[in-house]
Formats: sequence, C-alpha cells, structure tokens
Amino acid sequence: MEINSLRLEDFRNYCGEFVEFDPVCNVIWGENAQGKTNLLEAICCLAWGRSPRTRSDRELIRFGAEGFRVEGAIASRGREFCSRIEYAPGRKKRITVNGVAARTAAALSDVLNVVFFAPEDLQLIRAGAAERRRFMDASLCQLRPRYAEALSEYHRLHEHKTRILRDCDQRPDLIATLPDFNLRLAETGAVLIHYRSRFAALLQDAAAAAHGECSGGREALAVRYQTVKTVTDPLGDYRQLVAQLLEHQRQHHYAEISSRQCLSGPHKDDLEVLLDGRPARSFASQGQTRTAALSLKLAAREIHREILGEYPVLLLDDVLSELDPRRQEFVLNRIGGGQVFITCCEDDRLGGLLSGRVFHTRGGKLE
Ligand code: ATP
Ligand code: MG
Repeated sequence: MEINSLRLEDFRNYCGEFVEFDPVCNVIWGENAQGKTNLLEAICCLAWGRSPRTRSDRELIRFGAEGFRVEGAIASRGREFCSRIEYAPGRKKRITVNGVAARTAAALSDVLNVVFFAPEDLQLIRAGAAERRRFMDASLCQLRPRYAEALSEYHRLHEHKTRILRDCDQRPDLIATLPDFNLRLAETGAVLIHYRSRFAALLQDAAAAAHGECSGGREALAVRYQTVKTVTDPLGDYRQLVAQLLEHQRQHHYAEISSRQCLSGPHKDDLEVLLDGRPARSFASQGQTRTAALSLKLAAREIHREILGEYPVLLLDDVLSELDPRRQEFVLNRIGGGQVFITCCEDDRLGGLLSGRVFHTRGGKLE
C-alpha cells in the first residue's frame, strides 16, 4: 500500500499544503521545529483516525485556526481510495473514505496501515510492561479483528471487576457476582493469550533477524512472551488456557479482595526483550536500545505483510541519530519493500544512501 498524495489544511504548523509522494522512498529533512514530525503525524491520523502523540484533536489544529483537515490518496489492495479526516471543536470528528462517512476509525485502517517509529519508542525497551503490551495490542488490533473485539471486551470486564473489588467493602453482596466476571475474564483473556503468544513467536523470529542485520551480526536479540504464571503453554489448547486462568484467579481470590485490585489475568502480560541473553531494559546502550526498538517495529511490519499480504507504510522519525555509520547503513538496507517516509535534520545524510524523493520542510512548507 502507498500514499500517493496528501493534502493538509490547518494541521499543526501546516497552513495549506498538497504533496505528491514517491511510491518507494520519501526523505523529509529540515531543521528542528519545521514540521517533519507533524507530517508523519498527519499520515498516522489517516491510518488510525487519531494522533500517536496526543489524545486531544484540538491540539492538531493550527494555532489560531478553526479546524483541520487531512486528506490522502491511497493505493491499497489493488484499488484507489481517498481517506479524509476533518475536525473542528464542538463538532464530531468527520471521517470519510471515498466520500462515504464512516462511523469509526476502523474504516481508515481498512485502507491504510502504518508502522510508525518515533524517538519515544525507545520506551518500548526501557519502560515497563505496559508499553510493550500497547505495542502488541496495537499490532494485533490492526491484524486481527477478533483480537480487537476481545481486547475491548476484556478492558470492559476488567474495569467492572475492579469496581466490584473496590466497592465490596460497603456492599458485600457484590462478591457473589465475581465468579461470573471471573469466568468471562478467563474466556476473553484466553483469546488474548492465544493471539499474543502467536504474535510473540513470529516477532521472535522477525525481530531477531532484523536486529542481527541492523547490528551487523554482532548482537542476538530474543523476545519472550510472559503471561499468567499458571499457564503452562500459551500456544496450547484454548480450553486448557481458560482452566489455567481460572486456577490462577482461584489462588488469588483472597489477595484480590484484600488488596481491592484485580491481580490475575493477561492485563499484566509482558514481552521480555533480551540482548545476548540479558534483559535489554537494564543493560542495553543507547544505540543498542534504538536498534532493538527499531527491530521490533520492523518485525511488526514483516508480520503484517505475511498476514495481510501487503507492506504497511513505514514512518521513521529521526531514526538514525545515536547510531554509528555502520548501523545507519544496515538500517537503511533493511527498510526496502514497501513505501517509506524517513525524517532527518541534514540533507546530505540520506541523499546518497537512499533513492526516492527528497522534501525540504521549512516553517510548515514542503518543497
Ligand atoms: P525536530 O527536528 O525538532 O523533531 P520537527 O521538524 O519534527 O522538529 P515538529 O514536531 O513537526 O518539528 O513541529 C514543528 C513546529 O510545529 C513546532 O515549532 C511546533 O511548536 C509547531 N506546532 C505544534 N503544534 C502546532 C499547532 N497546533 N499549530 C501551529 N504550530 C504547531
Ligand atoms: Mg521531530
């Protein structure tokens, strides 16, 4: 899939811009604070219906303007689409695909998928498990509609159970409703584990290969899926997963009531990332951290292509800083395949290494 052109109106520091892109590689360079990340953010909005940087659509409106519009011409699944998002405060965000109003952002991700790598993604390696769960969830929600459904059902049940645990001091009668919630949490949780364990297995192979290449064969990356302790085989039979989740809940019944927290379930899952057998979170250098985070994203892109048959668009924001010239070259050699957007601060950095279109951005203008 490719974005052929993009139109921006009053989006961040872009007033009114129309650009046509290269189907393979687009280098966006410019000094700090000129609009490089804003451009990638706009492309993400066309895939997700929201920004990766903020929950507030209002922030996306150019200072002093009344609302924004982002529109893209996209080639995907052998067809042409025009996706558009418009927003002004006080009105509902309007999403259309080929002129037809869409109820949810899913209509956008049916047309365009992106893998976005931002400097904040170093947190994938450094931060706690929540960050890596978000990564798994985001990837799987794009790939598997059934996962997306199960995840939102799980969140709903988890919130409800947490409320019960919080309130059962005052209302002991609520405790009687717990078994029903526990059963439904175990059934939905088993669906999450089923998909996550398979995704982690694919990720292990693809990320290890990407990291091996990007580090010039110097380091070995491994990814291990960690879930509820009682689960003996996350890839195993669904009925067994449900039974083992129920067993874990049973063991934690009293602890949950006394701590008033939901302690049992895959909402605490993690993906452990190891570099040469040691936890990357504790021991990786800056360059290694960046290489590992990038390898996870590149792996997600490969998995996406394997499952859906097309490469998602790859957005790389400031990916090369902190990497030595060898690693930079390895990374640039790794990103072939689908369409790529890559930002940097100097024009000579990438010009010689990549072929495609080069855009210079200055003060919200692309040239
Ligand atoms: P860097 O190299 O430092 O990452 P960048 O080119 O990626 O820079 P952007 O993040 O795209 O910079 O931001 C460009 C400018 O847009 C910044 O000065 C920012 O303050 C400005 N900006 C952000 N939001 C808005 C908005 N809603 N309206 C107008 N300008 C905005
Ligand atoms: Mg930036």
